[in-house]
Amino acid sequence: MRLAGYTTLRLGGAPRQLVTATRTDEISQKLREAELRAEPVLVLAGGSNVVVADEGFPGTVLLVRSRGFEVVAEDEATVTVRVAAGEPWDDLVAATVEAGWSGVECLSGIPGSAGATPIQNVGAYGQEVAETVVGVEVYDRLTGEVTRMGAAECGFGYRSSVFKYNDRWTVLTVDFRLFRSTLSAPVRYAELARALGVEVGDRVPLGDARSAVRTLRAGKGMVLDPADPDTRSVGSFFTNPVLDAGAYEALRERAAELGEPPSWPGAGGTMKVSAAWLIDKAGYPKGYQGSGGVAISSKHTLALTNRNGGSTGALLALAREIRDGVHDRFGATLYPEPVLVNCAL
Ligand SMILES: Cc1cc2nc3c(=O)[nH]c(=O)nc-3n(C[C@H](O)[C@H](O)[C@H](O)COP(=O)(O)OP(=O)(O)OC[C@H]3O[C@@H](n4cnc5c(N)ncnc54)[C@H](O)[C@@H]3O)c2cc1C
Repeated sequence: MRLAGYTTLRLGGAPRQLVTATRTDEISQKLREAELRAEPVLVLAGGSNVVVADEGFPGTVLLVRSRGFEVVAEDEATVTVRVAAGEPWDDLVAATVEAGWSGVECLSGIPGSAGATPIQNVGAYGQEVAETVVGVEVYDRLTGEVTRMGAAECGFGYRSSVFKYNDRWTVLTVDFRLFRSTLSAPVRYAELARALGVEVGDRVPLGDARSAVRTLRAGKGMVLDPADPDTRSVGSFFTNPVLDAGAYEALRERAAELGEPPSWPGAGGTMKVSAAWLIDKAGYPKGYQGSGGVAISSKHTLALTNRNGGSTGALLALAREIRDGVHDRFGATLYPEPVLVNCAL
């Protein structure tokens, strides 16, 4: 059985073995068993942020299918929800909006599991989980123990954490602290504010924020739809490059005749530059076809899609062409956002 059936790209060859954990305690148990066999292990949940080699995975794939969440602490202003790793993320967001708990509403429509959200500090439309995650329960493969880590130990950054590209810890449950409020957090993202007909900084009913985000995302092929090949992706394939002041000035000079690259100031004088803009201006517009059944999404420049009988090899060749083209044109290096399994860019 190929892993293609378990990934949103619909790509990836077979593993040596596939096992499923439906309960939290089963996750650590199955990991211990695989360790006893000295097998490499790939933890896989929604398969929406992995690019798996056509050759598959030479070890055990553990499918995380634990479900459910419970309130573990509350006060007048907040509610702390403990969520099983395998809980589908968007179901959780829907439930929090319904309950009148604010903090993750702008992360509506993101595929995958709750347990994977800390891995790359999932974010969209001005929100990221680092703002609400207060701790995680993990199985530590180095010590064989189940332990808790606070948010500070998770080392959250832009699309990163201590967990990304590091299989030491498997997330078993995640604690999110949310606010009792039927209004959203202040809207930070200009495009979302426009869609809602409000100013940046305003707050809107939670349900309005959720549906506006889902509508915006659907227009970009960023909500999974089995009938739409534009959603057969990992979402954004590249992160936005973060440049120091010198590199940013050099980029602006090389881009002078194209206007100002869309960018956002970050810590320490850095600038985060729109990877979508760089890709488009380097000559890779929406719909750009690679060879072998892969293409840039017709709705979003950052999404590389498996259109029709594509392969991981073809997808990576397209990604390399884009990365190298952007580097030649602008001198900026793009890095992949998904985790590459048994393959490389
Ligand atoms: C259409 C589309 C839109 C997207 N939009 C966004 C977006 O707006 N913002 C964003 O940040 N991401 C986005 N993504 C990427 C993806 O949905 C998220 O990164 C999501 O959190 C991945 O969850 P998953 O369960 O599918 O993880 P998987 O793809 O199964 O795994 C991803 C990585 O996390 C590891 N992992 C999974 N579960 C665990 C666990 N319990 N413990 C330890 N490691 C684990 C895996 O080993 C792998 O390395 C999008 C993807 C798609 C397809």
